[in-house]
Amino acid sequence: MPASAPSTTFTGPPEDSLPDYVCLVCLMLAKAAELAGHAPEWHKLRDDGRDGPVQVYPWRPGKYGEIRPALVEGLSNMLPTDAGLVPLCWDHLASIETQTVPRVPPAGRIPPGLLKGRG
Ligand SMILES: [Zn+2]
Repeated sequence: MPASAPSTTFTGPPEDSLPDYVCLVCLMLAKAAELAGHAPEWHKLRDDGRDGPVQVYPWRPGKYGEIRPALVEGLSNMLPTDAGLVPLCWDHLASIETQTVPRVPPAGRIPPGLLKGRG
């Protein structure tokens, strides 16, 4: 990478366009999509080796998916486990697997070795 790469900046969504309590994963996915969407342009600028004005990439509403309000603070299986509790929408809240515990079999004859004082 050239030492004098032009600067680029991504504006992100205006604060007043976001829900008060936003899902962190929705926001991260939107940012990833924004960066990926402009990657060919800013990689070209980065690699041309010339200084230039700061390139501003404005946020394009609706282009990067919906940023939903968070319903709860919880765990997401889309984040590292040490991220801890973060604000999440329903879609990005991790689910858990449940398992069925078999019923305890009916009591029958107890083996002698398991009876107190016997065996
Ligand atoms: Zn979400």
